[in-house]
Amino acid sequence: MSLRSIEGQSVQADAIIRLIRQERLPHALAITGIAGVGKAAAAVALSMALNCLEPVDYDGCGRCSSCTKILRNRHLDVFVVWPDPPKKKREKLLKDDPELLMRHRDILKSPWPQDDDLSIKIDTVREIIRTVAIKPFEGRYRVMVLPEADLMTEDAANALLKVLEEPPRNNVFVLTAGKIENLLPTIASRCRHIRFGPLAAGIVRAGIEDVTDEEASVIANLSGGSLKRAREIAKTGFLAARRDAVAAVNEAGDLAGKRLFQSADELGKGFVGGLDAILWWLRDVMVLKATGNESRVVNSDIADLTADAAERFDLEELFEIFGFLDRLQQGIRFANIGERLAALVALLVFAGRLKPWEALGYGQLWIR
Ligand SMILES: [Zn+2]
Repeated sequence: MSLRSIEGQSVQADAIIRLIRQERLPHALAITGIAGVGKAAAAVALSMALNCLEPVDYDGCGRCSSCTKILRNRHLDVFVVWPDPPKKKREKLLKDDPELLMRHRDILKSPWPQDDDLSIKIDTVREIIRTVAIKPFEGRYRVMVLPEADLMTEDAANALLKVLEEPPRNNVFVLTAGKIENLLPTIASRCRHIRFGPLAAGIVRAGIEDVTDEEASVIANLSGGSLKRAREIAKTGFLAARRDAVAAVNEAGDLAGKRLFQSADELGKGFVGGLDAILWWLRDVMVLKATGNESRVVNSDIADLTADAAERFDLEELFEIFGFLDRLQQGIRFANIGERLAALVALLVFAGRLKPWEALGYGQLWIR
């Protein structure tokens, strides 16, 4: 790993390397961008470039003892400070597994369970301040990486601000965040801002495993340029669930009586997510209907089902169905409409036996 090897961010990597070469690297950088575009990797690669024993044109070599120590998360001057759980929970996790932090070797991954109550707290920042007050132990620079710095509490941010105003020599701070606006303006103003863009589809496609090429293309489109999101989608089986849901609504017209109810039972399991998938696919149907251009279809692996639906409905009907399903989803979420009933209604609408406006217009459902 090195700055130049960060995929899809070569302009940004060159900009950072140029700052190193010209000895103009500021003591604080803020790297922003959506999740999974290489922000933390770049921050760690920067720490390698700054401490490398055999730098390659001002970039880290990835092989010397300094670079390998950093990669193994064993360098005494490179710290990646992840948001951590509330104190009590943290203590319990460490009691259950006292080696949790000692064992942690993957410098690009947080050691903590990825819950939603993570934050960077003032105690942590105080520790950072104590650490940076001492000269680096083994490297030329101490590098403090704060991934997800947007999760800093306000107390913590204000404490960090003091050290960013007057940083001790040979310390470099790298904060990463979704957007620069997520940081306190006073913090942001002390950092050189580097923006990482979404990754190109080809880079995302190449970065996911255990899916077919066709599925990889669909996932890359869906990921919005985030490799992290793409890997999550690949793991959750979302594509298979989407295929099943779309197949169910497409076949609804052929079903009657008991078989229709059976299909609704099946489709109704986790139907909020199923509706997400159907709505996403319906956009394809509308785009195909409106433009006739197959290359603009995102769900390319189920293009046959998309073409079928575009054949069967006119554009106005598709808009109505889309609006209806969107409302139906809200109904499940906020008005306690049962998922099985919702699935049945959706199937009837797709079968052409219930009109969307009839279902919605008077707030009651009736079957034609
Ligand atoms: Zn090196």
